[in-house]
Amino acid sequence: MKAGIYIHIPFCKTKCSYCNFSFVINYPKTLPERYTSALIREIASCSDPPLETVDTIYLGGGTPSNVTAEIIDRILSACRAQFQIAEDSEITIEINPDTITPEKARQYRKLGVNRASLGAQSFNDAELRAVGRSHRANHILQAFEILRAEDFGNISLDLIIGLPRQTQDSWLNSLLQLRKLHPEHVSLYMLDLDRETRLGKDFDRGRTQLPDDELTSACFIDAISQLASDHYDHYEISNLALAGWESRHNLKYWMDAPYYGFGASSHSYVDGLRFKVEPDPERYIEQINLTGSAVVERTALSRERMRNEAFYLRLRRTEGVDLEAFDRIYHGSITDAHAEAIVRLTDAGLLIKEGGRLRLTPRGILLSNEVFQEFL
Ligand code: SF4
Repeated sequence: MKAGIYIHIPFCKTKCSYCNFSFVINYPKTLPERYTSALIREIASCSDPPLETVDTIYLGGGTPSNVTAEIIDRILSACRAQFQIAEDSEITIEINPDTITPEKARQYRKLGVNRASLGAQSFNDAELRAVGRSHRANHILQAFEILRAEDFGNISLDLIIGLPRQTQDSWLNSLLQLRKLHPEHVSLYMLDLDRETRLGKDFDRGRTQLPDDELTSACFIDAISQLASDHYDHYEISNLALAGWESRHNLKYWMDAPYYGFGASSHSYVDGLRFKVEPDPERYIEQINLTGSAVVERTALSRERMRNEAFYLRLRRTEGVDLEAFDRIYHGSITDAHAEAIVRLTDAGLLIKEGGRLRLTPRGILLSNEVFQEFL
């Protein structure tokens, strides 16, 4: 599998109360320019190996659609100067619904961006307001229309399950709105409550109520079954796609392929080495300007760790792991290495072995974090 590139662009309009990503709001006017220069310098100094062929680029954040198309142009040009970008590459940009205009969408297409990931999160304004999102449901509809009109034939929509104020009815309504738009790809994320975020603190102090596990599980199950009836394939724990529209970039993470990350908080994985970059945008710029690198952690994975990680990452895909092929790649039996855990998880109804493949059961999908814990 060819390599992928992830670019982190940390500029946001507002601070969402559940967010633990690397982002900035109310930043100085000069920051995007200084950040872009550092990013370009970081990409240009990546020589390991130079001009490797890449067939996916993912512009994530933060909010990449919050910066000018000219900045996106410069970043993509830097990637093209340093890597061989395959003709048929998938180039994705994350878009917040209230930050896209026809002009911007047109420019993205001219730059070769061919996939949009629209952070809808919910079609319910009270839920969006409750977590400090800057957009409302009508922005999602407008953004989708703009993207389609500007020739985006590959759009992914994200929804979050477990938002404050969410009920089964409000969830079913969000789902209905999404189904009417009929995007090529859907990501369904369970809200992962970080205790250090504003939402986490409010919840701990009893100031915010969140839907319980029973409700969020029911919402997830409803979504999978309704989307299946619209011919979406549930191909990975949180992701569904119409045939042929799976995220090629994310497949790299699940299939152990190399990827290069650039920008604050990015990660790279190349030749068994993992790199983690400084998460604070200002410190990131400072480090790049001082030394040309902002790597804060470098880990050489042992063969055993590489194998274990590759195993549970492959398990994220609903087709599961082809055990014979896996053992051939990693020289040894994974089922022998984890015999006790696999028997226990199978007996508990979380894993199932069928036709030479080991995969998560529907219950295992809901409890996947606990399953993966066993293989770390
Ligand atoms: S827009 Fe995304 S990255 Fe920015 S604060 Fe909200 S959740 Fe975080």
